[in-house]
Amino acid sequence: MSVIHFLATHALALALLVLLIGLLIGSFLNVVTYRLPLMLQRDWQTQAREILELPAQPHPGTFNLLLPNSQCPHCGHEIRPWENIPVLSYLALRGKCSSCKTAISPRYPIVELACGLLSAYVAWHFGFTWQTAGMLLLTWGLLAMSLIDADHQLLPDALVLPLLWLGLIANYFGLYASLGDALWGAVAGYLSLWSVYWLFKLVTGKEGMGYGDFKLLAMLGAWGGWQVLPLTILLSSLVGAVLGVIMLRLRNAETSTPIPFGPYLAIAGWIALLWGEQITGTYLQFAGFR
Ligand SMILES: [Zn+2]
Repeated sequence: MSVIHFLATHALALALLVLLIGLLIGSFLNVVTYRLPLMLQRDWQTQAREILELPAQPHPGTFNLLLPNSQCPHCGHEIRPWENIPVLSYLALRGKCSSCKTAISPRYPIVELACGLLSAYVAWHFGFTWQTAGMLLLTWGLLAMSLIDADHQLLPDALVLPLLWLGLIANYFGLYASLGDALWGAVAGYLSLWSVYWLFKLVTGKEGMGYGDFKLLAMLGAWGGWQVLPLTILLSSLVGAVLGVIMLRLRNAETSTPIPFGPYLAIAGWIALLWGEQITGTYLQFAGFR
């Protein structure tokens, strides 16, 4: 029996394998969420200086997603391979740098674990199919975007746009929706939040959300078709409102403090893609429409 045949017939083995892959990807996503915004910032600064015809700033060496190797931000100790094993290294090091003993943020193992568990669930849900492969890429992308948006209030085009095209390509093969539904999903996703943005701006004179949010909803529409949009908007507003109120209370912040909407859209879209039909069906039944 070949490995492929084994994975295709043993759902639990597939989920466990994908759990391990997800943990490793989660470790890489920690790097992406830390470095990508810095890389973009450097890029924008270089471009701005070029336009303003200012002398180029000297760059302090190579800095991309792979190089240099990760270091302790406190003492510069280079992270060795055995210190880079997802979750386990954090536990073995008891959450401290092996050199200077400064505490490592628990966010790193939490992201790794979350990525592993979400990935395993996707594999369990869709089984040994192309749907799993596509949904894994989308899940990893959404996770990275949510973290970057939460940190910097920024949804990088470098992540959102390739995933938008990928969603349309996946649905050329009808993986999650028909190509037509996916196309109109992308259009309606963009335009719906775009209209809310302009309505809000005309009424209040303020900007309620960023252009990244329109693109993110367009991307979710490209994956799930226009059918996922109402539920995504409803769920993200609900989750955003509840968590927003809690966070404002906790931080005692002013109501004008910007709250990134991207993570809520990402969570809501992910749920709508996986369980949209069941949720809508149950609701319609409950409301007496079926
Ligand atoms: Zn250190």
